[in-house]
Amino acid sequence: MSVTPVDPTQPYDSDNIFAKILRGEIPSTRVYEDEWAVAFEDIAPVAPIHVLVVPRGAYVSWDDFSQNAPAQEVAGYVKAIGNVARQLGLVEDGYRLINNIGPDGGQIVPHLHVHLLGGRTMGPMLT
Ligand code: 5GP
Repeated sequence: MSVTPVDPTQPYDSDNIFAKILRGEIPSTRVYEDEWAVAFEDIAPVAPIHVLVVPRGAYVSWDDFSQNAPAQEVAGYVKAIGNVARQLGLVEDGYRLINNIGPDGGQIVPHLHVHLLGGRTMGPMLT
């Protein structure tokens, strides 16, 4: 995998790895899908549960999505993230959501994705 950070000023690249996963061109372990989003296991998990929740729409980042997605799509994606956590049985014990944006945020894949981490107690995450 390339570790070049995402340049948020670039247009959406429809050949990015998550676009290919959404189209089924490369394999992934899907744990959830609905009209708005797909969730699949991260290839390099950092917790017992580590899934990536990805909107079906073509958005580079949260910045792109929050500025350009129709309200219905924003609502659908936000709901889907909650649905994934619920479906994975994480509501009672809790979980962590992370969204990396652009170079300083540490974003590597240029298709919006929220990391959903669970299955263990998380430490402080302030760095
Ligand atoms: P970012 O730093 O962009 O927020 O995180 C990208 C995430 O995508 C990383 O956690 C990385 O392990 C994951 N990832 C990269 N390539 C693939 C892939 O081909 N398949 C899956 N399932 N996850 C990937």
